[in-house]
Amino acid sequence: MNCEVLSEASCLLGECPVWDHHAKKIYWIDIFKGDIHRLDPVSKQYERLSTGKVMGSIALRKNGGIIAAIERSFATIDYATSEIQVIAPVEPGPAFNNNRFNDGKCDPAGRFWAGTMSTEGASGAGSLYCLDTDLSVQTRLRNITCSNGLAWSPDHNILYYIDTARRNVAAFNYNLVDGAIKNGRIVISIPEVMGYPDGMTIDAEGMLWIAMWGGSQVVRYNPHSGKELCRIALPVSLVTSCTFGGDSLEDLYVTSATTGLSSAALAEQPLAGSLFVIPSTGYKGTSVFEFGR
Ligand code: CA
Repeated sequence: MNCEVLSEASCLLGECPVWDHHAKKIYWIDIFKGDIHRLDPVSKQYERLSTGKVMGSIALRKNGGIIAAIERSFATIDYATSEIQVIAPVEPGPAFNNNRFNDGKCDPAGRFWAGTMSTEGASGAGSLYCLDTDLSVQTRLRNITCSNGLAWSPDHNILYYIDTARRNVAAFNYNLVDGAIKNGRIVISIPEVMGYPDGMTIDAEGMLWIAMWGGSQVVRYNPHSGKELCRIALPVSLVTSCTFGGDSLEDLYVTSATTGLSSAALAEQPLAGSLFVIPSTGYKGTSVFEFGR
């Protein structure tokens, strides 16, 4: 598969690609800079909203605008006015001062899930939260070290989830009606040589596409057998997340990062921090879920 650079807007920590199927635009963020990038991949029209806040993840709202996990709060963002409104803080108090939100995504019922992590790498300091459409917050998992990829099976019965530190993908029985998850089990184990599993997406066949931090690749896995199906090489080592987009949801958008790379590594991978696209993968993504009823 052919990988192309779509935007060289260099991100310190590019993340969370989200396809807007109404406007046919791709969003992605820079967690550390607090930027929300938006690009029309056909016309190349590009915009950037700089919030100046550490932003773990975003998703689109059904009634317009953005839902986001910023610092340690769920919030809404109006892209046009750049107004941020905090909806629900999580992890209040000084005990959580070193935590921040990380990856997040909407589920098939329109809830927004996002998890936290310690900025100092403390083991088990984070949790996975779910912001329901009535704006109540449920804690879904505790003892999380680096909350990352989320994906729901095409039949909406399984949640797949990555805590990067565990080097695996866990599956949970997922209840669409109330968002409850249970019966967690490991379905994919990832050896060190592949990189650290980071963000992920799922295709219409129910196969997972996992971005490998430090692994210079996206790898497609079968979560039923745990087996690797194919690898897509990227010209950068810190591959952070991926999502399907485009008119037929067959283009794979991939984000990357520069943070922590030495000047020698940066010289070797001048495209680090870029947004990439693998056009016409031959595989199709699942519907993009948005926040709200
Ligand atoms: Ca991530």
